[in-house]
Amino acid sequence: MGGLSGAETAAAILTSRGAVVSLLGQRVLATICDQDKPVGAYEIADKLGRRQNGRPVTPNSVYRILKTLVECGAVQHIECQRAYIARTVVDYATSAVLCVCDGCGRVDRITVPNIEAEIAAAALGREFHLHRQIIEATGLCRECSKS
Ligand SMILES: [Zn+2]
Repeated sequence: MGGLSGAETAAAILTSRGAVVSLLGQRVLATICDQDKPVGAYEIADKLGRRQNGRPVTPNSVYRILKTLVECGAVQHIECQRAYIARTVVDYATSAVLCVCDGCGRVDRITVPNIEAEIAAAALGREFHLHRQIIEATGLCRECSKS
């Protein structure tokens, strides 16, 4: 989101989701928004500093907040990296293919409407009702495949 700070982006995401989170939750989301690639809970705890309101910010407390942020749709968990990215307002979708670079760790979102429709149809064939479908694909981005 060009020009916006992590905190501004975080506030916009939370507003668009109608989500209310704690001050620490807002700071966690702002930290994620400040990164240009997925970030793990330990790194988030590190970036937030050791203390918040006199209490230590532990990876465990960050994990609890991340769970809430994932549930309200503000954050996407990248399973293959055990890391998190923000789901910004404009690219929010219930289905996406995430291309995760094994080199630099950056994530690119692509939409492949036919694939998504086919998965939805196949799932319905088994009377399975999808809530969302996130497909993770790993490989090398353009920059990384050059070197
Ligand atoms: Zn790369």
